[in-house]
Amino acid sequence: MMPGQIAKLGNSAAQFLLGGLAALRSLGNAAKDEPAAGEGRRQDNADLRDAVKQWRQVFEHNPVMYFMVDPAGTVLNVNPFGAAQLGYTAAELTGQSVLNVFFEEDRDFVRRCVGLCLETVDQSHTWEIRKIRKDGSVLWVRENAKAMLRGDGTPLVLVACENITQRKEAEDALRQSEAYLAQAQELSRTGSFGLSLATREAVWSRETFRIFQCDPEVRPTLDFVFQRIHPEDRDAVSKTLDRAFRDVEDFDHEYRLLMPDGSIKYLHSVARAVRHGSGYIEFVGAVTDVTTAKEAEQRLRRSEAYLTEAQRLSHTSSWAWDVRRQEFAYRSAELYRLFGFDPDQIDLSARAFQQRILAEDFGRIVDMERQAIQQKQPFEVDFRIMRPDGSVRHVHTEGHPVIGGDGDVMEIIGTHVDVTEQFAAKQALRKAFDELKQSEQRFRDYAETASDWFWETGPDHRITRISEHADTAGAVPTGVIGLARWDIPPDAELEPEKWERHRATLDAHLPFRDLVYRSKDRNGSPIYVRTSGKPLHDANGSFLGYRGVSSDVTAAIRAEQAEEALRKAQAELAHITRVTMLGELAASIAHEINQPLAAVISNADACIGWIDREPVELNAARRSVEWIVEDANRASEVIRRIRALAKKTEIEMAPLDMNQLVRETVALVRRELATHAVSVRMELASALPRVCGDRIQLQQVLINLVMNGIEAMHANVERPRELAIRSSQVSEHGEGRMLVTVTDRGVGLGNGATERIFTPFFTTKPSGLGMGLSICRSIIEAHAGRLSAFPNDGSGATFQIALPLPTENTS
Ligand code: ADP
Repeated sequence: MMPGQIAKLGNSAAQFLLGGLAALRSLGNAAKDEPAAGEGRRQDNADLRDAVKQWRQVFEHNPVMYFMVDPAGTVLNVNPFGAAQLGYTAAELTGQSVLNVFFEEDRDFVRRCVGLCLETVDQSHTWEIRKIRKDGSVLWVRENAKAMLRGDGTPLVLVACENITQRKEAEDALRQSEAYLAQAQELSRTGSFGLSLATREAVWSRETFRIFQCDPEVRPTLDFVFQRIHPEDRDAVSKTLDRAFRDVEDFDHEYRLLMPDGSIKYLHSVARAVRHGSGYIEFVGAVTDVTTAKEAEQRLRRSEAYLTEAQRLSHTSSWAWDVRRQEFAYRSAELYRLFGFDPDQIDLSARAFQQRILAEDFGRIVDMERQAIQQKQPFEVDFRIMRPDGSVRHVHTEGHPVIGGDGDVMEIIGTHVDVTEQFAAKQALRKAFDELKQSEQRFRDYAETASDWFWETGPDHRITRISEHADTAGAVPTGVIGLARWDIPPDAELEPEKWERHRATLDAHLPFRDLVYRSKDRNGSPIYVRTSGKPLHDANGSFLGYRGVSSDVTAAIRAEQAEEALRKAQAELAHITRVTMLGELAASIAHEINQPLAAVISNADACIGWIDREPVELNAARRSVEWIVEDANRASEVIRRIRALAKKTEIEMAPLDMNQLVRETVALVRRELATHAVSVRMELASALPRVCGDRIQLQQVLINLVMNGIEAMHANVERPRELAIRSSQVSEHGEGRMLVTVTDRGVGLGNGATERIFTPFFTTKPSGLGMGLSICRSIIEAHAGRLSAFPNDGSGATFQIALPLPTENTS
């Protein structure tokens, strides 16, 4: 009972005292009522004295505090125990206001209580209140008071107090511990409950009400609980409770609540079946809201799933190695997969994993681990794994030592990354690189052994770089860096057009090839340089200059020049020979021309005759004129051919009908043949393909051979003077050739003369020059053919011209 609350409750000790006082008063009253009773009165007085004495004893020695106060609150009397309880003597309190032993703030209450007693004389009132001891400490008392009237009719208030300080303190402590518990329940989100087995009635703590969102004023029932439980979990909860009730056994379960706002709560509930002495059985338990933990767990599970997925995608597995136990403290699912295990095989020992590492790599890992533990340093190591299917995986691992409280390495945490693909790519790259290096070396070797040098020019066409090496050092011009190409060669002025063209090419940034120019080598000797280059551009297409190669082509140019000179000399000689030959043919030619001229004259005469006739024979005259035209044409044709032969012309290659050429040639030398009584037999193959050649030169060859044949048969008396000219087509090694042979029946070739006759100035004739066959051979060779001589089986010699036929027949 708190101060300020007054009750009319009875109290044994106070009641006793108040009862005693009431008895005393009635005794006193009896003595007063019967003053003349003599002996009886004496006896009564003696009894009264005894009773007062007894009650004084009770008053003074009863371990109850007694106060007597007047209506103003002044202490009339206090028993020694009462005074002592407050740390005073009875004398110290007597005559003082009783309010002095109360707290300031309680004094009004005290006044009201005293007032109440005075209003209700003879009625007992009780209340609990604090008092202040002399030393200032607090004394909790339960006061029992009542007002009574004294003999003179004035009221007096009797108060008996019981010390309840201990009970109050215990109550406070209980209240506090209850508050602590409530606080703890709220903080731990754990509510407590009691559930009667017999009645199924429940008692809940404040937190349990809060968890279930139930009004604390409402009596909790199992029905209400089931309303709150998530529909999907009701069956399971119901089964758990049924079993617990049936078997009277503890239970521990988890379930969800579906709250009115649609949110979900996860609860974990545990309860113990408690049997009380009376046989009453109840379940006492706790229910914890584990929603936060569940959600965290779900988040953790999700993030673990993400991590697993990330590890799978990145081929990265993580692990922790317990150094003391020599066993994994943790290994991710990906580690199992990497080693070819099923992630569900959680019982696998580290040994099983180690056995899949290639033996030659395993030792290295062990060394690395030992070193990392000693030096307490992170490490990296590569090794290989052989999976049961025989496939080998390359792994890169990184480990970090974790130092324990004792300063030693207790764990190594790390990752394995499957680098098989990267390893293969690296190998391929290395191979490609090696090949590239080899090919670079190859080209370097080519470049260094070639007689070429490389150069680079900038955007302004000035030389920025020249490579050189021992072999070309002599040829490479020095001091040309910074010069343009046209500043170097001495022929820039001699051939201005060539350089203008070259500069135009460069300005257009076009590639160029085989530009040949005269220059000077390091020693100042004139050289010919041939150079080619291509323009360079950067990634944006801007022109950077040229890069190219030059070589010293002096020797080749000189050889070309010598060849050209020889060719010219030969052509000159051939011309001279031809003219000489024509001189020899002069008689024949004269005859060739004379014949048609004579025919022209006779036909002209005949024509005049036909015109002079009367009447004029115009038809006959016309025919004569036609013959004149024909013969004149023939003569002019002969002259044309002679002039062509005598003319000094450049070689002109054209497709030729060889048979036609043979016939024309024979026509040219007909007179010569006739003069020497030589008959000609032509056996010309039909449908011969055309050959590519120079008509005049080939004719010169044929004339030469025919004339030589005529001369070789000059001495023939017995043997007929017969010349055979044949043409044919043969195929050798898949290549077609045309053969033209001139066979005579003359003196033939002497021993070993088949080759000698082709050497210049070899002749057996007194007026011979010995150049004919030599020139003929070089003409045929210039046509990529071959001129050769053979002795005949019988007599005479055969000269054969073999010319290549074009691969496609163009006849
Ligand atoms: P030349 O007729 O001025 O002597 P050639 O070079 O034409 O010059 O011939 C060289 C030599 O080859 C002749 O002097 C002759 O001895 C020999 N010769 C050429 N043609 C024949 C031939 N048909 N039969 C035999 N010997 C020949």
